[in-house]
Amino acid sequence: MKANSSARVRFAPSPTGFLHVGGARTALFNWLLARHCGGTFILRIEDTDRERSSKEMTAAILDGLEWLGLDSDEGPYHQAEGTDRHRADALALLERGSAYRCFCSPAELDARRAAAGEGYRYDRGCAAIASVESDRRAADGEPHTLRFRVPAGVTAWDDVVHGPIEFANADIEDFIVLRTDGSPIYNMAVVSDDAHMRITHVVRGADHISNTPKQILLYGALGLALPVFAHVPLILGLDGKRLSKRHGATAVSEYRNEGILPDAMVNFLALLGWYPGEEREILSRAEMIERFTLEGINRKAAVFDPVKLSWMNGQYLNGLSAESLLEAVTPILIERGWIDAVEIQGRRDTLLRMVDLLKTRARTIAEIADQAEPYVRARPAYDPAAIARHWKDPAETKRRLAAMRSLFAGASTWDASELEPAVRGLAAQEGVGAGRIIHPLRVAVTGLSDSPGIFDVLGLLGRDRTIERIDSAIERLDEMERGAHAG
Ligand code: GLU
Repeated sequence: MKANSSARVRFAPSPTGFLHVGGARTALFNWLLARHCGGTFILRIEDTDRERSSKEMTAAILDGLEWLGLDSDEGPYHQAEGTDRHRADALALLERGSAYRCFCSPAELDARRAAAGEGYRYDRGCAAIASVESDRRAADGEPHTLRFRVPAGVTAWDDVVHGPIEFANADIEDFIVLRTDGSPIYNMAVVSDDAHMRITHVVRGADHISNTPKQILLYGALGLALPVFAHVPLILGLDGKRLSKRHGATAVSEYRNEGILPDAMVNFLALLGWYPGEEREILSRAEMIERFTLEGINRKAAVFDPVKLSWMNGQYLNGLSAESLLEAVTPILIERGWIDAVEIQGRRDTLLRMVDLLKTRARTIAEIADQAEPYVRARPAYDPAAIARHWKDPAETKRRLAAMRSLFAGASTWDASELEPAVRGLAAQEGVGAGRIIHPLRVAVTGLSDSPGIFDVLGLLGRDRTIERIDSAIERLDEMERGAHAG
């Protein structure tokens, strides 16, 4: 498809909500197509619904796209700014006889709709009004809408994703293109804009399939060339129902806040409906751009599996440099009040080693932050479950910790090559496995029952902090003993 460098595609979100997973995936497919064939990716904010649209949501959508790295070549255009052109196109339809004025009042239409019940379609009462009379009534100021005169026949297109799709025109009512107040209806605005922007490929959610025949009719009536249509499949939750709040986060920003990396999110979204031609799932942006074609999009609904997203994020996390990881995790650590920016600067080398150690055990930046707690806070927070599990006998634990404390205080270097034999020697002396010494020690210095290898942990903490923490642990064990006696 390299030759198709004139491809012009658009992402056209309505700013009535955040950038959701489905919208982000549509944006991504358009972006990938444009980048694949050297075409143009256009951003158009469909803000004609003044009441439901907001500046905040527009900003949030742009922010989400920026975070994902989906840069546009044109725009953002605002659909509401094109109202005059939309109206002119609708009036051109009237001129060509493809539209007519409808003078039926909303109350009349409501009554007819109520009487007809299910399956109501406009009865075309005004379609027969002679144009002289129609012009006169309009000139007299009689309120009216403009309706499209749906011709007989069928409307069909060859959807790149779904194959041939056909609608009987008899099932399409003479839909309104211009409201009584002169504002264009959605489908009118979309066709007018897509034509004006010379869009060659309309790539959008399958939920728009029902709009497409109306839009195709408008193109035809205005004598405009049709774009290629590709309707990307719906996204379902693991339960097979359409993805919604019930399944957890749906706004892209929520994933950002959870510590998902933009590259992982993009890779994950790309595979929601697109098959890259091989089973390998981790693909760089360059590889995705290289391989992307609309033909590679599956018509089957895609399933959003959050566990797969975490796994993928873990893969990307592992590939990041310690510097980038620290940069990503820093704001979270500061926000949680565990450390301040000055201290982070002062302990940078240790913290870089820390994130490198923690990343293999984490799937998100937030998980790295969770695990970082014992190393960045002045004092660890003891996990009661860890205490219950590994400090079962306070007196014995205290004695062993005290023995370790003196070994550590006397060590000539603070290095695993010296610390490890010392700890193992103590275990041998006590006649227990090394785990029986290491687990209680881990709780003492991290407060947790899980951590990277204990000697890496000791290395990160340094001698002074380790000893300080053993002292606090011993105090804590004292309290436990006193509590036990008092109880
Ligand atoms: N504004 C529409 C939406 O947000 C998209 C219209 C289109 O892509 O044609 O669903």
